[in-house]
Amino acid sequence: MSTPRLEVDLGRIGHNARTLISRLARRGVAVTGVTKAVLGSPEVARTLVHAGVSRLGDSRIENIERMRRAGVTARLSLIRSPMMSQIDRVVEHADVSFNTELDVVAALSSAARTQGRVHGIVLMVELGDLREGILPRDLEDAVRALMRLPNLTFEGIGTNLACRSGVVPDAANMAELSRLAAAIESGCGAPVGLVSGGASASLDWALGEASLGRVNDLRLGESILLGREPFDHRALPGLHTDAIKVVAEVIESKLKPSRPWGRIARTPFGVPPAAVGRGCLVQTILAIGEQDIDPNGLVPPPGVRILGASSDHLIVASEAVIEVGEQMRFEPDYAALLRASTSPFVASRFHDGAQQGPLSQARRPPGLTIGSASTSAS
Ligand SMILES: *Cc1c(COP(=O)(O)O)cnc(C)c1O
Repeated sequence: MSTPRLEVDLGRIGHNARTLISRLARRGVAVTGVTKAVLGSPEVARTLVHAGVSRLGDSRIENIERMRRAGVTARLSLIRSPMMSQIDRVVEHADVSFNTELDVVAALSSAARTQGRVHGIVLMVELGDLREGILPRDLEDAVRALMRLPNLTFEGIGTNLACRSGVVPDAANMAELSRLAAAIESGCGAPVGLVSGGASASLDWALGEASLGRVNDLRLGESILLGREPFDHRALPGLHTDAIKVVAEVIESKLKPSRPWGRIARTPFGVPPAAVGRGCLVQTILAIGEQDIDPNGLVPPPGVRILGASSDHLIVASEAVIEVGEQMRFEPDYAALLRASTSPFVASRFHDGAQQGPLSQARRPPGLTIGSASTSAS
């Protein structure tokens, strides 16, 4: 089996999705399953749909096309503002897109008209994190403008917090989102179906005591895939944090001095950490590196400590010499997972829970390839 690889436990991902969906359903909130960290993997997409997500979202049109080609039938939302150069593809493959620019919305309208389709528009609102979004004072004008355009439906509004400036979703900014939904309905006469209150970072707020107002959707990626809350990487109760593993192979393992010798300068990845300890340690090298993962985002197995990394090598301290060819499993954080998914050198292997084997033939959905390289958008 090829290494390095991601091992994706679809059973555990399904469990995480079902658990979050039912907790949020009690609060009147549906879940959009976000697939970008696994490049729109059709296997993960089907698992999320089966678990009961109301729709799927991805930030890349390539991933949406991949899911469509694989026969995923759920409603698909492009959750990043479409590029002007990709408008035709967005209208053809995505049911809905998230928008902040009227020029883009107008281009979507004319492409939808040409293609004989109706495209759904969610308008994203800026609530302080300073990433994407229409300023609240401009929102009603934007809704009025889009309602004048043919072949579009106004689906609702959404916001994104936490990802750029670390602004925490709280009672104040979420109440503002609800207030804006009400203002659009009274000011523009447009029903606001979807009020999407953010990503995994909004879970603490949504599952807390606060009134949720009009918010009826969250877009969840990290919390479903990794079972963690994004601000402090806290494990979410009842969820698996080990549904996805990075597996790498040992290519060297030797007793070596713990301190480098010679004059020390910068490395290609910045200032090397000061050497600690004295004497010798067992230094083991795995054939995976900065090109494939974020070394700061890997949790090693017990008894193993990460010492450093370069483009193609991950260096760890292990308790004993490890035979070359042995494999080691790490838990990735979101950044490590994103990079691993995107590296052409990291394969993905999907399996279902208890026994660590691949999905049995009988349970394998039609057209599903096991162990395909994760970047092949096949
Ligand atoms: C990535 C993304 C999400 C999902 O974020 P998680 O932290 O993985 O839950 C939601 N919304 C938008 C717009 C995104 O780009």
